[in-house]
Amino acid sequence: MLPCPGAATAPPLTTNELDPPLTVAPAQPLASPPVAPSQLTQPPPATVVTNRDPLPQRPTGELFPLWPTNTLLETQVPLRDWADYYALPAPRRIGEFPQPTYEVRAGGGRALLRIGSPRATIRGVDVLLTHVPQLLGGQPVLHRLDLQKSLHPLLWVDDAAPLLTTNRIIVIDAGHGGKDVGTGTGDGRHFEKTYTLDWALRLRPLLERQGLQVVMTRTNDVEVPLAHRVFIAEEAGAALFISLHFNSAQPVPSRKGLETYALTPPGMPSTFVRDGEDNPRLAFPNNAHDRENLQLAWRIHRAVLNTTHATDRGVQRARFLGVLRGQGRPAVLVEGGYLSNPEESRRIADPQYRQRLAEGVADAVRELVRAPLVRASAATPPEGPAKKTSPPAQ
Ligand SMILES: [Zn+2]
Repeated sequence: MLPCPGAATAPPLTTNELDPPLTVAPAQPLASPPVAPSQLTQPPPATVVTNRDPLPQRPTGELFPLWPTNTLLETQVPLRDWADYYALPAPRRIGEFPQPTYEVRAGGGRALLRIGSPRATIRGVDVLLTHVPQLLGGQPVLHRLDLQKSLHPLLWVDDAAPLLTTNRIIVIDAGHGGKDVGTGTGDGRHFEKTYTLDWALRLRPLLERQGLQVVMTRTNDVEVPLAHRVFIAEEAGAALFISLHFNSAQPVPSRKGLETYALTPPGMPSTFVRDGEDNPRLAFPNNAHDRENLQLAWRIHRAVLNTTHATDRGVQRARFLGVLRGQGRPAVLVEGGYLSNPEESRRIADPQYRQRLAEGVADAVRELVRAPLVRASAATPPEGPAKKTSPPAQ
């Protein structure tokens, strides 16, 4: 799969180049090497601890503590232990084909986990895990990081998620522009840059009608370097950043559907890698928003699927996306469909379809506008995992 080319042209950063210093915690030593995406269909090395005792002590006073990381159950965590820890109903095996499928319920929603497949369905939306669930000793086990970084933020996602609470400024980033045409339709007559700009221009008034202040990285056919797109958001002090793109997979013209990307959290392999660039030991400024990034991606992905009925290719993680890595705010990148697929290309060429793409993003943001603004002094990102203020619906 090839994404639109402009999404990845920023040079890679190293941890030494990050300024200010990372706010993320030092990476825990990995008990096993991360699994490359090409190996996702193969179970990672089995390092599960089958001894179920002792379970980590659930701290009092914290409604939603993350699974502790300094326990014996460091890498592969039995799903039933994780459910026990959060006082959830025991996972249920609800299907056998094409893979054994387990259901875990929490926070008013459910996650479906498929043995041997990275594709999970969390509250109705497909999310690609970075390690495939396995059966060990007859029990489903998941990687600790998938539980912490994928299931936890989405099973307990709620309307009070701190995504648009500091201000009402949102940056809409129309991908590519000018000489950077992005990808194109199979006949070479239409380019991504035109469709992303049209999508953004349709989205702007929908957001402004919600009382949001919209900042555009471009409003016409000009080239804007990726670093400048980040700078625009920084200068505006924006609360959110949403980048709009279209996709291509020339060797696989049958591929179609919606993908929404958040930056890969440190320690995890990406679900999509480009040019071999995926070092799980790197962390970027935007990783301070891992939880909010995923929640925003999930909301947008769900809402755009609702308005377009596009094929669900899942919420995904990538590390090469230069327009996301340096963002000091929740930021996502939406790939609104494959221009290389003749059927989807025809849909994208229809202005009414692009209007539905815009309405989907606007619907997702509308859910966030209800949250009250908080004073700047109270808007400092919390240390460690976000704390919830109300219990989940069980
Ligand atoms: Zn693109």
